[in-house]
This record gives sequence, structure tokens and C-alpha cells, in this order.
Amino acid sequence: MIRFTKVSMRYPGGHEALKQVNLHVQQGAMVYLTGRSGSGKTTLLRLVLLAERATQGQIVVNGQNLGRMTGRRIPLYRRNIGFTYQDHRLLNERTVFVNVALPLVVAGHYRYQEIKKRVHAALDKVGLLTKERAFPITLSGGEQQRVGIARAVAHRPALLLGDEPTGNLDPGLSLEIMKLYEEFNRVGVTVLLASHEIGLIKRMNKPLIVLDDGRLLPQTDEAEAPG
Ligand code: ADP
Ligand code: MG
Repeated sequence: MIRFTKVSMRYPGGHEALKQVNLHVQQGAMVYLTGRSGSGKTTLLRLVLLAERATQGQIVVNGQNLGRMTGRRIPLYRRNIGFTYQDHRLLNERTVFVNVALPLVVAGHYRYQEIKKRVHAALDKVGLLTKERAFPITLSGGEQQRVGIARAVAHRPALLLGDEPTGNLDPGLSLEIMKLYEEFNRVGVTVLLASHEIGLIKRMNKPLIVLDDGRLLPQTDEAEAPG
């Protein structure tokens, strides 16, 4: 599903955030990406999302070479991806329903009935069907994060990327959110989840890849355990 070959990424201004990264995430896998703050986790996810471009190397996602992807093919490519942010980026002055529906509306090719169906299905999966009329501000941190997940999966992406989805939550809630991603993985979605909470993700018993100052550390046996 995702293959990095000798990928380096240097930000304008000179900082090399990723150095010669080789990475393979198989279709249907669930992989945790960890490493301390500044090690390059967000950069790696943003490269997959095509929010950044590699300065060297090759990235292939779902058989598509991202280096060659331009113009109108980019939004089409992104339709296959769901992305969740640490700060969830919900619109506070819009209801939960509108927040989850928005990417579908923007995509422009769904009819209203279809949007409604998908939003309800997504909210149901994250356990928030009763909150569709609520405003994000009235929800708990964990609930807000789950709205972000619903928004990320409403278009049924094959690939789900999470950037520190539990960064602002207490440990009990964090575990719950991680398990929610695992549920999507169980029904076939490939999941790549960045988190610096090493203690938590070690307990998840899934492949683990570690970035250290832009370099991917060799995978341990643990990391190669079947998902
Ligand atoms: P992580 O998500 O693991 O904390 P990041 O990918 O955000 O790491 O950052 C990796 C490195 O790249 C850090 O040194 C960071 O300061 C730098 N960096 C991140 N974003 C930018 C940017 N937009 N411009 C310049 N440097 C950046
Ligand atoms: Mg980050």
C-alpha cells in the first residue's frame, strides 16, 4: 500500500526532516509510527497525503508514484485517504453532522441522501450517532477526536493516517481511540498511526516503526510480528 524508497525530505530553509527512509506498509496492515518530537513523524504522514513533496527518493502509494502526481490527480488520489489531526481541526461553529459531511460536500460528487447515509454510518462507527446535532465545543476531548475520525472515514478511504490522535487525551481515552482505529483496520482499512506515546503503542501488539532524527530505525522482531 505504501512504499518509500530512499526518501529524504528537506524543508525550505535547510532542515532535513527525513533521511533516506525505506518503508513498506502492506495493504490491510496496521502500523504504528513512533519517535520523539521532531523525529519526522508528521512529515512522513504529510508526504503520503501529498501535503509535502519528497526532495529525494520515491514514494508509491496504492501503485501510484507520488512524484509524478500533479494537478487534478491529487484530489482524486486523496479520496482514497483519511487523515486525522492531533488538534482534530473541527469547525466549532458547525454541528457534528456538518463537520463530518464537509469533505463529502467538497468532493462534489455525492448527492445529499448519500452524504446523509455516509455521515450517519461514520458517526455510528465511532459511537456518536446521537451527537449529530451537537457542536464540537460541547463534546469531550475524546468525543471530538472521534468526530475527527468519523470525518476521516466518511468517504470510506482504503488508507487511514492518524497524526498523534491521542496527543491531548488521558491514557484511558487514548487506548479507546487506538482501539477504534484498530476496528477500522479489522474491516480492511490500512492504518498508519503516528504517536510518541511509546508505552501505549507497545501494548497494542502491532508492527511498530521508529523514527530517530529523520532516520527509520531497523525494525525489531516485535515490529515484524504479524498484525
Ligand atoms: P514530529 O511529527 O515527529 O514531531 P515533524 O515531522 O513535525 O516531527 O518535524 C521534523 C523536523 O522537521 C523537525 O525538526 C521540525 O522542526 C522540522 N519541520 C517540521 N515542519 C517544518 C516546516 N514547515 N518548515 C521547516 N521545518 C519543519
Ligand atoms: Mg508531529
